[in-house]
Amino acid sequence: MGPRDNGFKVVLLGEGRVGKTSILLRYVKGEFSDRQVSTLQASYLDRRLAVQDQSIQLSIWDTAGQERFHALGPIYYRDADGALLVYDITDYSSFNKVTKWVRELRQIVGAEICITIAGNKIDLEKHRAVPEDEALDYARSVNATHVYTSAKQNKGLDHAFLDLADRMCKRR
Ligand code: GDP
Ligand code: MG
Repeated sequence: MGPRDNGFKVVLLGEGRVGKTSILLRYVKGEFSDRQVSTLQASYLDRRLAVQDQSIQLSIWDTAGQERFHALGPIYYRDADGALLVYDITDYSSFNKVTKWVRELRQIVGAEICITIAGNKIDLEKHRAVPEDEALDYARSVNATHVYTSAKQNKGLDHAFLDLADRMCKRR
């Protein structure tokens, strides 16, 4: 058995400030801060979870903020099994970035990478800027799952990662 028989690499991608680091810290450490979220010491955090009676390990990779300088290259995601593409539901331009990441991932990693699109900050729904039907139709058209999350209120995160893990297991 190779080292990753029981483990998967998942990358977080999305525009700066959409909540990638917040999602990771909430999901792995149960923490959230409303103030500026610092980047992590490590480039990824691990979390174990049970999928179909198996214990698997997700290594969830976060950027160090390079996305702000358009400097996030294939070395970050080339060997990923899955990607959580995050946008902020109150910021339409962050949704446009998701479509760019989908094209790049499908082109460079291929059809086999499992993609979940997360509309984060659903606690701010009254300021929603991305229409729901547009987001869901788009996700369907690129064979991705769509979920709503709130790192702040801890909503949707267990579901998002469990669904991703389940699809990655089925693919392997
Ligand atoms: P990143 O640049 O994508 O890693 O985004 P951060 O995790 O640094 O978050 C950017 C800002 O959005 C911070 O002020 C967070 O507190 C805030 N934030 C993250 N997730 C949520 C959320 O679900 N709801 C709300 N209201 N704010 C959030
Ligand atoms: Mg960050």
